[in-house]
Amino acid sequence: MHSTLGKYHLLFSLIKDIFTPKLFLSMQRTSQLLDKLEMPLTIEMTQKSRELAAQGHNVISLSLGEPDFDTPEFIKEAAKVGIDQNFSHYMPVPGYVDVREAICKKFKRDNNISYSPNQIVVSTGAKQSLANVVLSLIDAGDEVIIPAPYWVSYIEQVKIAGGEAVVIPTTMENDFKITPRQLKEAMTAKSRMMIFSSPNNPSGAMYSEQELRALAEVIATKKDFYIVSDEIYELIRYDQEHFSLASIPEIYDQVITVNGLSKGFAMTGWRLGYIGAPVWIAKACDKMQSQFTSGACSIAQRAAIAAVEAQPEQVGYMLTKFKERRDVMLKLLNAIPGFHVNTPPGAFYAFVEVTGALGKAFNGNKINSSLDLSMYILNHAHVSSVPGEAFGLDGYIRFSYAASLEDLIEAGRRIDEAIKKMS
Ligand code: PLP
Repeated sequence: MHSTLGKYHLLFSLIKDIFTPKLFLSMQRTSQLLDKLEMPLTIEMTQKSRELAAQGHNVISLSLGEPDFDTPEFIKEAAKVGIDQNFSHYMPVPGYVDVREAICKKFKRDNNISYSPNQIVVSTGAKQSLANVVLSLIDAGDEVIIPAPYWVSYIEQVKIAGGEAVVIPTTMENDFKITPRQLKEAMTAKSRMMIFSSPNNPSGAMYSEQELRALAEVIATKKDFYIVSDEIYELIRYDQEHFSLASIPEIYDQVITVNGLSKGFAMTGWRLGYIGAPVWIAKACDKMQSQFTSGACSIAQRAAIAAVEAQPEQVGYMLTKFKERRDVMLKLLNAIPGFHVNTPPGAFYAFVEVTGALGKAFNGNKINSSLDLSMYILNHAHVSSVPGEAFGLDGYIRFSYAASLEDLIEAGRRIDEAIKKMS
């Protein structure tokens, strides 16, 4: 009898211990690596605006980095055929051979780069393509040069690999682009990689052929220095031709070209990205990917053939709309007191210099940073945006103009009204 009671007592105290917060918390210990990572502010801002919307507010979302169009019909049709033809089994890790062949043709046609299928790795989004490259090439202590403003995940992926990010800041005055001199000064014996995007997210900046050739001269001086050229916004450009760094023969062996379907084909949810790279780097990415996801979604891959085989003009209607919206958005933003924006040649973002609107207050709360201002605009104008801090450049806010003209005009009106309320 006594011993049965004793057993219950023991059981009870065990259960009690399990549910005490201390033990509970120690059970929930996450890795040191995870603790070093940031949650992308882009995703956080979107989450906050969804919460406001759930409370019944009419929130205009200009924080997300995706086209507001649906995937074109001809691509959806190709996916449906893929389903009917039972493309439902595992495939080679770097992608179906015919998909990689189609990507090679696209690289030749649009970018003047010669790749063969064994130089292509298809992944679950360009984000995974980038992660594959960074994890395959970067060791602890390697330096990775990243011009700011940069896309949020570059820095975090370098951290995961144990590398050191070396940020080169740019300004609106130099159109958010680095010069060959800045690159040269940032390079050390430890420099292993540079990651950049053109067109750029968040600034929309694009490097011209001449500017890339000048950077290539510096890159060519260090043969163990690799450049990740993120060209995911290639198709979204208005006033300038796109040029690919890997088309310069002197540095072909040093460049990894990253691209994908998310932006140009309005396929963010399909998760399809790819790289073209020297064979040994493609092989390394194949090995890395084989331990995470294996091959990318079979149906998205069948759809990818239709997308990359299409002439860029087939999705030109989106570009026409984006350009119209860009021009309206720039006018609206430039008219807001303390805001200043240049004309971005690519992508679908306005990266606004807002320092003239900082240092003011509302209801006794000081608005000192672009993060404060972005939050103020969300809470008082119900317009979501992403502060420059997310992209490594304070004093700026990114507004996406991948939204209807009606929403953009209303957003401009609300932001203007909110800014004028600060004193
Ligand atoms: N690179 C840049 C510059 C981006 O802006 C994004 C998405 O926002 C990506 C890569 C990732 O694209 P994906 O949707 O293919 O993973």
